[in-house]
Amino acid sequence: MNTPLKKEYSNLGFDPDALRDKYRDERDKRMRDDGDEQFLRTREEYGHFAEEDPFVEEPEEREPVQREVDVAVIGGGFSGIMAAARLKERGVEQVMLIESGADFGGTWYWNRYPGSQCDIESYCYLPLLEELDYMPKEKYSYAPEIFEHCQRIGEYYGLYELSLFQTRVTELRWNEDDSRWTVATHRGDDIRARFVVQAAGTANVPKLPGIEGIHDYKGHCFHTSRWDYDYTGGDHSGGLTRLSDKRVGMIGTGCTAIQAVPFVGEHAKELYVFQRTPSSVDLRGNSPTDEDWYRSLQPGWQRERRENFADIVVGRPFEEDLVADGWTDIFRRLQSVLPPEEAVEGDPEEMALAAEIEDFRKMNEIRSRVDGAVADPETAEALKPWYRQFCKRPTFNDEYLETFNRPNVHLIDVSERKGVDRVTEKGIVANGIEYEVDCIIYATGFEMTSAPHRRVSFDVIGRDEKSLFEHWGQGLRTMHGMASHGFPNWFFIGVNQNGLSVNMTAMFDDQARHVAYIIDEVMRRGSQLAEVTPDAEAEWVAEIQRLSFANREFYEACTPGYYNNEGQLDDPGKGIINHAYSPGINAFNALLGEWREQGDLDGFELR
Ligand code: NDP
Repeated sequence: MNTPLKKEYSNLGFDPDALRDKYRDERDKRMRDDGDEQFLRTREEYGHFAEEDPFVEEPEEREPVQREVDVAVIGGGFSGIMAAARLKERGVEQVMLIESGADFGGTWYWNRYPGSQCDIESYCYLPLLEELDYMPKEKYSYAPEIFEHCQRIGEYYGLYELSLFQTRVTELRWNEDDSRWTVATHRGDDIRARFVVQAAGTANVPKLPGIEGIHDYKGHCFHTSRWDYDYTGGDHSGGLTRLSDKRVGMIGTGCTAIQAVPFVGEHAKELYVFQRTPSSVDLRGNSPTDEDWYRSLQPGWQRERRENFADIVVGRPFEEDLVADGWTDIFRRLQSVLPPEEAVEGDPEEMALAAEIEDFRKMNEIRSRVDGAVADPETAEALKPWYRQFCKRPTFNDEYLETFNRPNVHLIDVSERKGVDRVTEKGIVANGIEYEVDCIIYATGFEMTSAPHRRVSFDVIGRDEKSLFEHWGQGLRTMHGMASHGFPNWFFIGVNQNGLSVNMTAMFDDQARHVAYIIDEVMRRGSQLAEVTPDAEAEWVAEIQRLSFANREFYEACTPGYYNNEGQLDDPGKGIINHAYSPGINAFNALLGEWREQGDLDGFELR
């Protein structure tokens, strides 16, 4: 049922009811029954999409390693390097970091596709800017700068000498006899660790559309996170000249495609972009860092900026919007119509309506941008997103939409059939038509919030031979998102039952500090192990469930995507909102801070 419109919103210049209906129709058109099962995992016969590393000439040869350490950190992306760094700061030296890439970086090691850039402001996103005295080049950093920053952190904290690269973990197994974890790898290593920090990332397992025929395709193909520059020519900054005689099909139009399409469109003989749901494409508006401004920032500025940003994007009232960009825009508008005191104490229905109206305004602007940029009206219409701004990850780009004015670039709308039909030996079938292509680029994302066993490429076997995926079979079960009963001395950093932030590196660093604190405390107290009690775990799960209803209505009305588990909100353990600490990262950090302050590792049993 439509919400009755309050009097003061009667002269909007648009009809909210009509927009609500349109949003619902567009959502319903895309709803499928198969949720995350619609995707193919990049394993076994599809393993080569993820396991081969196009960025190294030859995998390094080495003998299997046998070693005993205090802490094994799985993953060398931001979450892993921050965990190792925070442990080292506390004097925990016997750390080993295990990483599948040939260097640090994680997401930024793998995602080198042309144009890749972070949408979160660099001054918030790049960790340790003050400690390392580094000034980002621009407001929004490109991938090479971020990758370099990971290397900079690795050097600064002496992490290279602690790390095993080009090594994939295949299993973690708890040994009751000596209270150690065994870390098995695809290189036959035997690593024993007192503690494990699983920091394997959120965008680490690429996925493919679960359609027939991917295996039959005889042309060239790759996933965007394994960009094949040998085939396309060029590099991150473009120049994909080897595509000049190639017909290319790209499947997917999320954040990755928005950034890569302009470069492929510039060089390919023909480019077919297969779009199921259009992204919301806002202005990028990048600019070089003003050095005088940067040097004038006072100590502690980065945390202050991160917290200010995090507060604003969860809808908290604010005095100043330090970042002031496309992420915070909608909240600035909302606050201008809804004074802060009302935002805290006002009528919730009134507030929800005000938020919806500002969202309609924002999305009307996003849709008008399409009309302004794209010449062909039919193509422009198909590129318009019909959902609320944060139903899907918003994107920001100043060249994507215009690329569809090129005569060699074709948008193929596959929304009516809920995706492309299938792949054949020669190309892609969509809406019953076969498009013959020389190359297929899958911009189809990652197993970010799908079932836990899909997100991680190895199993974790805890006490009594119990698999973590079995423990989490009916939904995630953790305390603070970072530890589970039955898995002693095992800690998780990532997107779990914790306070989320779209500024993921800030979130990872806060978790890293917390985990480093616990490990250090357990070691200093001379305990062998720390294990979350069943009661503490159950209490946290109940708290998360209680809070998660706050955003439910919003995500129910959204077009399917990984935020709302492809529209299946009741599936346990999947999606982003039904297991997050909804008050947000700042409130979560305050809670963890008090917990540490209490000093008794409440909820852990030490033995
Ligand atoms: P996404 O999951 O956002 O996008 C996947 C795309 O594939 C969607 O457009 C999806 O359509 C489409 N798709 C899936 N199955 C089919 C099918 N059967 N037929 C046709 N299309 C299909 O992946 P991305 O790699 O773009 O982004 C993943 C995440 O990584 C982002 O959300 C963001 O968190 C992060 N990222 C951040 C960047 C940044 O900061 N700039 C850049 C890149 C990534 P549909 O929408 O209909 O499901």
